Amino acid sequence: MVKGLLIVLSGPSGTGKGTVCKALLKKRKDISLSVSCTTRAPRAGEKDGVSYFFKTREEFEKLIEKDAFLEYADVFSNYYGTPKSFVDAAIDEGKDVLLEIDVQGALKVKAAYPQGVYIFLVPPSMEELENRIRSRGTETAEQIEARLGKASAEMKLMKKYDYRIVNDSVDDVVNRIEAIMTAEKLRVSRHEDETKE
Ligand code: 5GP
Repeated sequence: MVKGLLIVLSGPSGTGKGTVCKALLKKRKDISLSVSCTTRAPRAGEKDGVSYFFKTREEFEKLIEKDAFLEYADVFSNYYGTPKSFVDAAIDEGKDVLLEIDVQGALKVKAAYPQGVYIFLVPPSMEELENRIRSRGTETAEQIEARLGKASAEMKLMKKYDYRIVNDSVDDVVNRIEAIMTAEKLRVSRHEDETKE
């Protein structure tokens, strides 16, 4: 059976990854979103196995020992990680899996899973990115400066990705991701069974 694709959507904070993912998943019910593990407490309305797989620190550390993550990170004193088993099982069944993840996490996944499709979402301009971060109104001036500094450093990592898409319109971005998926599925290298001598 032809394996599913691992589609990794990434880009600096404030580029609109979350909005694009939601729109893509709404349009394409055949794509599964990878559910991460975390040690942070569930928020109101969050269900285990849907928002995250909620774990204790001990459970999480055991999973790290077992090499159960494609990547993991310590974010704000909580662990977050992408479970290998979820991604592998879906892909082996021929399902496409979407991962929405920050730039550092995405590059770690790429090292572990080079056959994935790595898409870098670019803000239309740095001014636009600044407007988006400012208009969220959730961060202090200092935090905004820090995020903008981080975003311009992350832009330099774009060259490590396979594709770059400018987030000028959500519908257009979704169409472009679908076009990439179509082309990727046609790659000879993804049809090993037919190319064996
Ligand atoms: P929250 O606690 O608000 O759900 O997420 C906090 C941060 O953790 C966000 O920046 C989110 O993108 C990041 N995060 C969620 N899941 C993962 C994961 O599996 N791996 C990594 N590296 N970061 C994650």
